[in-house]
Amino acid sequence: MSPHSTEPIVKYGFPWWLRPFLMRGVAGITLGRRIYVVDDATLRHELVHFRQIQRLGLFTFYWTWIREYVANRRRGMNSSEAYRKISLEEEAFGEERSL
Ligand SMILES: [Zn+2]
Repeated sequence: MSPHSTEPIVKYGFPWWLRPFLMRGVAGITLGRRIYVVDDATLRHELVHFRQIQRLGLFTFYWTWIREYVANRRRGMNSSEAYRKISLEEEAFGEERSL
């Protein structure tokens, strides 16, 4: 393994093939090591997810994300509230606002 294998590859803007899949208002996405963002605040947010994925593994990351989202929806939160209250997102939004 290369010593740099766990470093993210950051790209500003989205590749053309990803655009049809992005919902309106999405400012960043992390796909494995590749991070696509529109600005630096979003980069800080996505770097938190990158580290979470390193820490938890991809499966546990997505499993936790979906499990908490569904639990929040069952508690009566709307979609965007349920998303922001996911513990992984709270950590990422906290970092996005820092500086
Ligand atoms: Zn996020």
